[in-house]
Amino acid sequence: MLRPMDPVTDPRAIVAAVPEPALSVCRALVEAGHQAHLVGGAIRDILLGRPGHDVDIATSAHPADVTRLFGRRRTIPTGEKHGTVTVLVDHGGERHHVEVTTFRGEGAYSDGRRPDTVAFVPELVEDLRRRDFTINAIAFDPIALRIEDPFDGRSDLAAKVIRAVGDDRERFGEDGLRVMRAVRLAAQLGFRLDPATEAAIPGALPVLRKVSAERVRDELLKLLAARKPSVGLELMQRTGMLGEVIPELSASVGQTQNRFHAHDVWEHTLHTVDETRGDPIVRFAALLHDVGKPRTAAPKEDAPGELSFFRHEFVGAKMAEEIGRRLRLSNKEREKVVALVGQHMFWYTPEWSDATVRRFINRVGLELLPELFELRAGDVRARGFDEEPGKEIDELRARIEREVERASALKVTDLAVDGKDVMRVLACPPGRIVGDVLRRLLERVLDDPSLNTREALERLIVEVAAEPAPPREPER
Ligand code: ATP
Ligand code: MG
Repeated sequence: MLRPMDPVTDPRAIVAAVPEPALSVCRALVEAGHQAHLVGGAIRDILLGRPGHDVDIATSAHPADVTRLFGRRRTIPTGEKHGTVTVLVDHGGERHHVEVTTFRGEGAYSDGRRPDTVAFVPELVEDLRRRDFTINAIAFDPIALRIEDPFDGRSDLAAKVIRAVGDDRERFGEDGLRVMRAVRLAAQLGFRLDPATEAAIPGALPVLRKVSAERVRDELLKLLAARKPSVGLELMQRTGMLGEVIPELSASVGQTQNRFHAHDVWEHTLHTVDETRGDPIVRFAALLHDVGKPRTAAPKEDAPGELSFFRHEFVGAKMAEEIGRRLRLSNKEREKVVALVGQHMFWYTPEWSDATVRRFINRVGLELLPELFELRAGDVRARGFDEEPGKEIDELRARIEREVERASALKVTDLAVDGKDVMRVLACPPGRIVGDVLRRLLERVLDDPSLNTREALERLIVEVAAEPAPPREPER
């Protein structure tokens, strides 16, 4: 067994980390007289002692040769134009997909997004030359047990450096996504950028602007999945990328706070992201949780020099909505981020009544609570005073569990009556009043769970229907 992050150098140890289906595809290609190499992220990660990556194979064989060799029924023409054929391999009772791509050189990039032409080339080194970073331009022939490393990617792996293949400015200028890939890889691997590579980023920002939001989003979410995303986020800030991707966050840099925070808003944000456990969407919410602070900063009464950020969570939720749309999160993802940002400012104290706990559950929604607590724990740990969020949250969590168990109604659909009952009792047609009445009934039941019976609620319907309409929620 390889231990993670032990650099691997012995070719036999490398082969041992290559999945058998990929090996069998290489064997077949070589036996048919072609070259076959592991390339890209797979070999990079094996050399780093982090196996488990999808394997990409580069070959001298043309797509038609690959298809002929393995047969039409065992291949999928995944991206024939780009030279990629997926080979299906049955192994260990499972069907595996192995991607095989013909050596490619690349023509001119005129739009900063995709090469104008893709040409198949006979030489492996040409294929490696078009790759983005030296650590991604290493090839391994698992049959001859030979590493091909013309750009000395292994030295950069050892030094933990991300360096462009060839001229940094030229390479970033060809494809605007590469700057995102650079900072994402830095975060994923815990590497730094070579100074010349980093220095080439500001000049490439106009090309980054041309990249589709979806591709930027995918890289950002991979960055946020890293153990320590701040490595990449810092780089984004330092190089001006942050101002392109989420300009709303730039105002956090240098935004001072108050005695409860050791850091400015941006530093605190970086710590919060690192300290928040959960999937990249929860991390995304952590990234945006205080985005509303600069816009709401105001002098704190009775504390000269300190600032308060009244209702920053609501301003922030609105900004998160826009950012989520711009970066093309799915509706579900965006709604989760907006809800987490908007709800992150609860202040639990043991004095909360059971009804307050029930209102809190109703407001946040049961499904979101675990992730809200993760964000909150990260937020507290990130204030910079070694505070432990555990006690407060654990107590609230226990009280929530108790309320859930007691099965008092926690949302409108838990009520003992529904919209049809409301319409019958009031003899009214469907309309907004029905939902309003149900919400008011829920308010009563949150206060007093014993009211959640059909008789009690039917009696209450007429009463709550006569209540004046509550003031509309203030503009968020
Ligand atoms: P991961 O799969 O973890 O995202 P990866 O390095 O395998 O990382 P892929 O997007 O799978 O990334 O790409 C495979 C390889 O293709 C890379 O290692 C790199 O050699 C090359 N590559 C990918 N995108 C680019 C690009 N925009 N410019 C140049 N080469 C690229
Ligand atoms: Mg990959």
